[in-house]
Amino acid sequence: MSSFNGDSMDDFKGLRITQLDDDDNEEEAPMDPIHVDEFDDDDEEDDEDCEPVILGFVESPRFAWSKLRQLFPNLAGGVPAWLDPVNVPSGKSILCDICEEPLQFVLQLYAPITDKESAFHRTLFLFMCPSMSCLLRDQHEQWKRAPEKVMRSMKVFRCQLPRVNPFYSSEAPKHDGTDKPLGLGAPLCTWCGTWKGDKVCSGCKNARYCSPKHQALHWRVGHKTECQQLRAVLETSDSGLVDNGVSLTQQQKVASKSLWKEFVLVNEDESEYDTEMSEDDEVAKPLVSVREVDDQMKSLMKDFEGDADKNSWVNFQQRVAKAPEQVLRYCRSSGAKPLWPIASGRVSKSEIPNCKSCGGPRCFEFQVMPQLLFFFGGNNDRESLDWATIVVYTCENSCESSSSYKEEFVWVQLYSQTT
Ligand SMILES: [Zn+2]
Ligand SMILES: [Zn+2]
Ligand SMILES: [Zn+2]
Ligand SMILES: [Zn+2]
Repeated sequence: MSSFNGDSMDDFKGLRITQLDDDDNEEEAPMDPIHVDEFDDDDEEDDEDCEPVILGFVESPRFAWSKLRQLFPNLAGGVPAWLDPVNVPSGKSILCDICEEPLQFVLQLYAPITDKESAFHRTLFLFMCPSMSCLLRDQHEQWKRAPEKVMRSMKVFRCQLPRVNPFYSSEAPKHDGTDKPLGLGAPLCTWCGTWKGDKVCSGCKNARYCSPKHQALHWRVGHKTECQQLRAVLETSDSGLVDNGVSLTQQQKVASKSLWKEFVLVNEDESEYDTEMSEDDEVAKPLVSVREVDDQMKSLMKDFEGDADKNSWVNFQQRVAKAPEQVLRYCRSSGAKPLWPIASGRVSKSEIPNCKSCGGPRCFEFQVMPQLLFFFGGNNDRESLDWATIVVYTCENSCESSSSYKEEFVWVQLYSQTT
């Protein structure tokens, strides 16, 4: 079964992920005993024959139903469309380990593994704390050798399902607005619309929250009055599962105004951009002017001190310039490597922990570009979030385990490691 969803613009399936053979793992980079013993760094050398990369771009959702879970969407910003809508992550795993606020949804990618039955559907979900100080602390913690406790402000989860499963039809969705999931999902937080709402407001018995923090926030911005009105209207409410995936036209209402702007992600092979496009070629119509993104990138150049960083940055810029609005680079194949914007602050092979479920190695799967923040509409305060790239490594075997959402490994490269 090569593809589940016929429209190649709408998903990340059919990727080059069928031949993750072990042979390639033996390949060791030549070690330089003095400087670069930490890094698996042939990437300076083999840029020419690198693996084919799929680029992701943001677009506004075409239809109200484009983002529903039964369509296996690729999303950025807003709220996630949980693949397993019942066994959604909960407890401490939904929190920033540093400030203990619930994490915010960044993006999700539908990336099934076509020759693996248990991963017929497979979605990766990325979350982060919007606080830059938490991100700095997160990275500081990452540099520690064998930390006693792993402190993260950014988390990635992998969820996969076989073709026959309790949540979705085994037939491909029609993408015409009529697709429905098989069952209901767990009720989600009224405030963030992201995490399971397993705490119910004792006043109205209707509003649900993932955490006391979100309940307090909602109360402060208006639930206090709304709660009394609801109490009058709603005599009872069933505390069972809700139709967060069933309504076809209605979006789930989310009270929080601080979620990132929502988009769907569409993809294109990077090779499509290899030839220079003529001036009037309208193929990938940019949402913002190329110049705007470009200027932003150039201004960063001034901040780099070392030549290694500058060289790496120039290389990065040249590669990205082919399609400057890319927000994502995807390549899950053995030997695939991220495109590092700067030389310093890369993760070495030995620093990527093995899969917690099967103990096997993890491999690079995708990276998120700083352009995404531009589309999310970064605020201007001093604390505002910034990164050079976010790199996600997932279990090479995409293993099964008892938990529906398996946490994978995410590395963030910052423009400056010194702050
Ligand atoms: Zn935080
Ligand atoms: Zn919440
Ligand atoms: Zn209430
Ligand atoms: Zn595993």
